[in-house]
Amino acid sequence: MIIDSHQHFVRLARHPEVEGFRAAQLTGKNPDVLPSISDADVKKSLEQVVSLMDARNIDVAFASPRAKAMATHEGTPEQNAIWADLNNGLILRACQLHPGRFAPVGMLGQHPSCPSEQVAKQIERWAKEGFVAFNFDPDGTGGRWQNQPFTGKHNYPVFEAAQALDVPLVLHGSESINKNFPHTAVQYLVADITGFVQLMMAKDLFRDFPRLRFLIPHGGGALPCQIGRWRAIAKYNSWASPDEILGNGNVFVDTCVYNDLNMQMLFDAVPLDNILFGSECDGAFPGVVNEQTGDHYDNTRRYVDDSKLSAGDKSRVFAANARRVYPRASRWLKS
Ligand SMILES: [Zn+2]
Repeated sequence: MIIDSHQHFVRLARHPEVEGFRAAQLTGKNPDVLPSISDADVKKSLEQVVSLMDARNIDVAFASPRAKAMATHEGTPEQNAIWADLNNGLILRACQLHPGRFAPVGMLGQHPSCPSEQVAKQIERWAKEGFVAFNFDPDGTGGRWQNQPFTGKHNYPVFEAAQALDVPLVLHGSESINKNFPHTAVQYLVADITGFVQLMMAKDLFRDFPRLRFLIPHGGGALPCQIGRWRAIAKYNSWASPDEILGNGNVFVDTCVYNDLNMQMLFDAVPLDNILFGSECDGAFPGVVNEQTGDHYDNTRRYVDDSKLSAGDKSRVFAANARRVYPRASRWLKS
């Protein structure tokens, strides 16, 4: 079995009625009727991704709403809760319409002024519906990075809910209002790097929540090439080392890196038990071809296949690790 742990239903999120709803919210209209998207439209939005999964022999994907559209810096706490519920409802329906192919990962109605008790309630609500994990924006200010580190006590209700429900939090950046930080090229990776380092700095977090799990997407940001720097800085500052937070089973990364060299660096730097297969297909750069392979950049399966890992190690990366880190996914998988 091959599980892609990192996918977004971008085409579904770009349905004109969905985008229109958010645009209306942000002009203060607060429509009281949610857009009604037909099952046929939901299925149509997923045709491309299902055909790519079939072509690449990907059995299942953990799918979440479009990350850019979380836009946790915009709107109000009330609007963002409705916006997250709308997107989660669509994700759930898309998963139910494709039995055995997807498991739902939720988005949260974060906002700089939103009490985290409300965000925790959303985790509880959607976990009850079968969601297996939640994307959590470690910035939440649109690339301004003005909030306190996300690991602080202000977010403890979120961490309590995630630990109690046994759902990992995926630290995923969102839209950037800073034009120097294009979201897919910079802001997401800054979120990965910042998220990972804040976890190293958080002295009490894993003492208070020993079973809490975070997934840092995109190969852990700079982790494959900068783990040595972070080992040194951790020693210098008496932070937890990268090896400690990885080795304790609190932090995991995915394989969303897009060439053979960086995939091998990832396998060399990070313990294999901490690496989950992911491709972000077909969200970040749909259809763009890697001239080295003559295939799409986001066919990350090929870089894992081409690596020096043994067959047993590949199967850990392709499925076993994802099943362990996302225990609630089992109900969505074909037996
Ligand atoms: Zn993503």
